[in-house]
Amino acid sequence: MKESLLTGLAAIVGPRWVRHRRAELATYTMDGLPTHESWPGVVVIPGSRHELIDVMKALHASKTPFVARGAGTGLSGGALAEGNAVLVALTRLNHILSVDPASRRAVVEPGVVNARLSEAVLPYGLQYVPDPSSQTACTIGGNVAENAGGPHCLKAGVTTNHVTDLEIILPDGSLARLGSTHGDAWGPDLVGLFVGSEGMFGIACSITVRLEPIPPAVRTMLADFPGIRAASEAVSAIIASGIVPAALEMMDQSCVQAVEASIYAAGYPTDAAAVLLVELDGQPEGVAAEHAVVEPLLRAHGARHVLTAESAADRARLWQGRKKAFGAMGRIAPDLVVQDAVVPRSALPDVLDRISEIRDRYALHISNVFHAGDGNLHPNISFDRRNLELASRVREASREIMTVCVAAGGSITGEHGVGNDKLDYMPLIFDAETLGAMQATRRVFDPGERANPGKVVPIHACREWCASPAARGNGRQQHGSLAEVAHD
Ligand SMILES: Cc1cc2nc3c(=O)[nH]c(=O)nc-3n(C[C@H](O)[C@H](O)[C@H](O)COP(=O)(O)OP(=O)(O)OC[C@H]3O[C@@H](n4cnc5c(N)ncnc54)[C@H](O)[C@@H]3O)c2cc1C
Repeated sequence: MKESLLTGLAAIVGPRWVRHRRAELATYTMDGLPTHESWPGVVVIPGSRHELIDVMKALHASKTPFVARGAGTGLSGGALAEGNAVLVALTRLNHILSVDPASRRAVVEPGVVNARLSEAVLPYGLQYVPDPSSQTACTIGGNVAENAGGPHCLKAGVTTNHVTDLEIILPDGSLARLGSTHGDAWGPDLVGLFVGSEGMFGIACSITVRLEPIPPAVRTMLADFPGIRAASEAVSAIIASGIVPAALEMMDQSCVQAVEASIYAAGYPTDAAAVLLVELDGQPEGVAAEHAVVEPLLRAHGARHVLTAESAADRARLWQGRKKAFGAMGRIAPDLVVQDAVVPRSALPDVLDRISEIRDRYALHISNVFHAGDGNLHPNISFDRRNLELASRVREASREIMTVCVAAGGSITGEHGVGNDKLDYMPLIFDAETLGAMQATRRVFDPGERANPGKVVPIHACREWCASPAARGNGRQQHGSLAEVAHD
């Protein structure tokens, strides 16, 4: 890293907020996925919007690549920077700028932690609905970049449905406003384009979100099943009945046992092959009517017991087990790959069977906990990354799981994004022309290709790349090196 750049960044944010010593950088070498590690050139942590803008201008002037980072809870290696890239950590930009209960809007800085926003608007009887299980740590900026989902996104929609407008800093340091606070903006849906762009289009520096009233009635049910297939079929039957629960989550036996052995024990039955958490919300009469349909449906599909939470504390306990399930899996092995794919709901039973078969063939420990109502699977592979042979089996099994999901009509990610982990899977679902179009869209925002380089679009698979003999000659060695390939 050039001394002049370090000095320039320190002049903007203060020397304390420029981290470049090896011990300081160690914190930033991974996100929530333990299979990817890379060392940033430097980490800069601006403390205000003005500092962030000045940092971006300095990076532009020196043509330095950069990567935005929120809390680093991502699960696809998206917030990693390597080589001479600067990691721009946004955790100090953590202010809720305004709350307008009348129009049910809040404006937040990108580093606001998801759960803090809902806490702040609770006195107004409002909530911010998207609730990733990481919500006590992850940031709204990271949620925007990943288009995050969560258990309660089944009925209410994922992050993109809750963001009305954005102020973004483009890679050249200029500001752009996307969307409109007061209604639908003219022209193409640029907010929709930015949400889910995984840090490739610039940095979201001010985010306006919708707030929703807290529903007057909620019922949370725990149903346990002797077989995974029966639980999956119950999920399809509930949706087919016309009822869309607020949340519909599944955990298999391995997950339940990990939760029950942990401090998050929620009272799930450890002898069940699978449990479903079903939550209904709305007006009291509507919730009671839906409950009268859903409970018998669960039993008709083989549920041994259906327990309805009787108090807010009961409900919180049931949810805590689900939301802390990944943490509970830390008891199984030191490392955990949380995989993410989505399949048509009707394909769930067959796909889960195939995942069990892959688990057995590769002799791995896989636990499933997922947003069943959306068909959004999270097969979680517990392992020890110091065992290289085991790590290689994890990689192979992950690829097979993705292939199975795509063959079932699904996709390689439901909510955790592509990052650098899933680059190689992109050609499973997109042809070279489509990947080229994605790359062209990226250049509209970032002609110099300095924002989160090497992520999301596998350049070697793009049509324009395939058309370049020089690039083909260098083949996969250049995989991940966006800038070099683009100049071929
Ligand atoms: C235990 C656990 C449970 C999880 N549960 C869920 C879940 O239920 N649903 C779900 O969707 N995800 C879940 N995740 C994944 C993760 O929490 C989400 O992807 C989250 O949105 C990441 O937020 P972050 O602040 O940690 O972002 P980071 O990991 O820091 O960054 C993620 C990506 O966003 C980019 N980025 C960050 N901030 C900005 C910004 N302001 N502007 C532009 N780009 C930016 C980064 O460059 C990177 O590409 C879980 C993760 C863990 C560890």
